Amino acid sequence: MTGRGDQCEIETHVLIFPFAAQGHVNCMLQLAELLLLSNIHVTFLNTDHVHRRLLRFADIKSRLAAYPTLHFETFSDGLPADDPRCGDSMGQQIKQVDLTALPQLKKICMEASGKPRFSCIIGDGIFGRLTNQIGQELGIPVVHFRTISACCFWAFFCAPSLLESNELPIRGEEDLDRMVTSIPGMENLVRCRDLPSLFRRSHKRTIPLEHVAFETHQSLRAQALILNTFEDLEGPILSQIRNLFPKLYTLGPLHALLTARKASKTASSEEKPPPSFANSLWEIDRTCMTWLDAQPPKSVIYVSFGSNSTMSRDELMEIWYGLVNSKKRFVWVVRPDMVAEQEGKDLPSELVQGTTERGCMVGWAPQQEVLEHVAVGGFMTHSGWNSTLEGVVAGVPMICWPYFGDQQINSRYVSEVWKLGLDMKDTCDRKIVEKMVNDLMVERREEFQKSTDAMAAGAKASVTDGGSSYSDFDSFIEYLKSLGA
Ligand code: UDP
Repeated sequence: MTGRGDQCEIETHVLIFPFAAQGHVNCMLQLAELLLLSNIHVTFLNTDHVHRRLLRFADIKSRLAAYPTLHFETFSDGLPADDPRCGDSMGQQIKQVDLTALPQLKKICMEASGKPRFSCIIGDGIFGRLTNQIGQELGIPVVHFRTISACCFWAFFCAPSLLESNELPIRGEEDLDRMVTSIPGMENLVRCRDLPSLFRRSHKRTIPLEHVAFETHQSLRAQALILNTFEDLEGPILSQIRNLFPKLYTLGPLHALLTARKASKTASSEEKPPPSFANSLWEIDRTCMTWLDAQPPKSVIYVSFGSNSTMSRDELMEIWYGLVNSKKRFVWVVRPDMVAEQEGKDLPSELVQGTTERGCMVGWAPQQEVLEHVAVGGFMTHSGWNSTLEGVVAGVPMICWPYFGDQQINSRYVSEVWKLGLDMKDTCDRKIVEKMVNDLMVERREEFQKSTDAMAAGAKASVTDGGSSYSDFDSFIEYLKSLGA
């Protein structure tokens, strides 16, 4: 058996099972790498669709060469090959896997041939019931990993009590500014419009709220819960969650913890650290890095709405005019599938790729690197949780334009609780875009830079020796090793 640790350590073998979407696969691959660095044997389970894309765009071969105790397994998500698997069809994907994947997953768990038996399944909490059932039937401990923010997890968890206390349902558009009063730890912080999008009956509802609340409650039956967050960011909500989930590990920001752990491994041994790997499902276009090298410090706003959000042609044009009229420089990611096919046909060509006088357009960027670039001074984001954490670590103030899922509540926390930027939710108007870009990059720059610098320092402290996420990760490894083979 090859490996970096002793025989006993290498026998701890976990199965990691993410939901097949960029944001989920991204942070679960980061967790996988962290476990591999701690001499845990990992099998990573992808749908065929995601695995094909990782093979094309995400250094899978060199990753396998760097980590001899890493394995991949694949299963079918049951959807037709040409299903877009993004935006509205995500809900369909969740339902399909939930209904059909059990026999395939059980077979994979039973046939981990040539490797130690699984000591633990780390399953995406989106499939809470399914993962619990596999664990129960095969006698394997289950840990849930929720890839959303703690505040979103907690809002989903509290949904049944909001219904009971008549705070829900939200009664139409005129009700959206009502303050939500009965989520413990969030009293008078969020309005109905800031609740995760599934709470709105009318709003990009890919799956029923009741289903998501049910899956969230399934985490009570898991052995432990992992969240990709840190104490300084979500401490008050984490205290609430800990009351019900005593075995809670907060390991975030995972991408920063991975960087820190790799660096400390190099410092403490002669071994060369493994390189950084892209976890991307799209082809990365690096032209924006060369373009950024030629721009003055903090002069550029980076615009990206993640891997799933879609927009109408009108919305795209409003953001374009807002950016151009702001007279600020920008890098903008416009994914080929971001605007619906018919609407996207007649987009002006400068809006799809290439550079203009002040802007650089790409189909997919090396986002973490872009955010860390000295030329970048602002981030217009959909407030996906990975993107939010990447913005926090890079210390870049944000304009939030949430699309769905946890993004609505993340953007509220970014603007009103952490004071790291501005929330543009539920509007898309060129004048507002222009004003917000100018406020972020010029008028209120100092104010936002001060709070983003402080939060970035908190994030970095949490992942260095003695920090909360660093210590929680050590405890998690101890826990996994205690489960044995
Ligand atoms: N991302 C990237 N390049 C891009 C856009 C996004 O590498 O051009 C990455 C980004 O760094 C993040 C992930 O894709 O890690 C998106 O995850 P997030 O949770 O922010 O949003 P989602 O795509 O799940 O909505």
